Amino acid sequence: MIQLYVPLNFMGFVYREIKLAVADLEAMFRLLEQSPEIQDRPDARPLVVTGGTIRFENVRFAYDPERQILKDVSFEAPAGKTVAIVGPSGAGKSTISRLLFRFYDVQSGRITIDGQDIRAVTQTSLRDAIGMVPQDTVLFNDTVRYNIRYGRWDATDEEVERAAELAQIDGFIRLLPKGYETEVGERGLKLSGGEKQRVAIARTILKGPPLLILDEATSALDSATEKDIQDALETVSRGRTTIVIAHRLSTIVAADEILVLEAGEIVERGSHSDLMAKGGLYASLWNRQREADQARETLARVGEAA
Ligand code: ATP
Repeated sequence: MIQLYVPLNFMGFVYREIKLAVADLEAMFRLLEQSPEIQDRPDARPLVVTGGTIRFENVRFAYDPERQILKDVSFEAPAGKTVAIVGPSGAGKSTISRLLFRFYDVQSGRITIDGQDIRAVTQTSLRDAIGMVPQDTVLFNDTVRYNIRYGRWDATDEEVERAAELAQIDGFIRLLPKGYETEVGERGLKLSGGEKQRVAIARTILKGPPLLILDEATSALDSATEKDIQDALETVSRGRTTIVIAHRLSTIVAADEILVLEAGEIVERGSHSDLMAKGGLYASLWNRQREADQARETLARVGEAA
């Protein structure tokens, strides 16, 4: 028994240490999800981003051979534009972002960036070109400054603070007991989901990638926080090709194109007003969410009055 217990206990220790050390979703993906079979080709070249046009061409993908997740998905995110992906839980939205990072290879079809197949470029250059604002940012057990500077190690203090200002988090940081030197994370100050997301946005602003994936938080935020985050996201996505994985539909009204994904297929596409006029799945998701938001606001008002 003890023989089994010791290695299990040790594994638990290693797991906890890894969990504490791993700082953000990108790094976590690298450790947990990167399949060893994804290798650079011997002739792989660095990705050259000219405008930043992303194309999915007839992409099919399955994690397990018996269950198809993406079925013939085609779309283009033109340089500098914002494309939002919406759809029911499990439709395959996050899978699209994982494929763009090339954590997995497509089964058929291809993904290109400015005409270059992502399987023909080096993984390092691909991932350097893409910024990710994940749903849940895990912070390093270090200072706020360190957590933002992680976006670009050679950034000056002024650049770190400017990025925090653009991400609407500078005011909050300055009120902390030690300002930018405050320790955060598991062993330090716990930040709320909205604050963590703004740290992630500041990090991404500092990194300055030409391509961006925003994976919106599913959790409901209060409307002031949501507005701050929305402004910060608008700042970071300006002039960058952006794919938004959207959970709260109110935040994507201004997207250049909205793709509605259902069970791995794009079933509707167009602008917000096109899709509302169509009265299909998007319109019903939108109406359902509005009703839920209204019910939440009513409950909050009743709570305040009580
Ligand atoms: P949500 O809105 O709930 O985040 P989603 O649309 O982003 O959902 P995905 O995360 O892309 O959905 O998942 C699509 C499907 O693929 C789901 O049914 C999920 O269970 C499955 N899936 C996701 N990751 C894996 C994996 N690593 N191995 C096997 N199946 C997976």
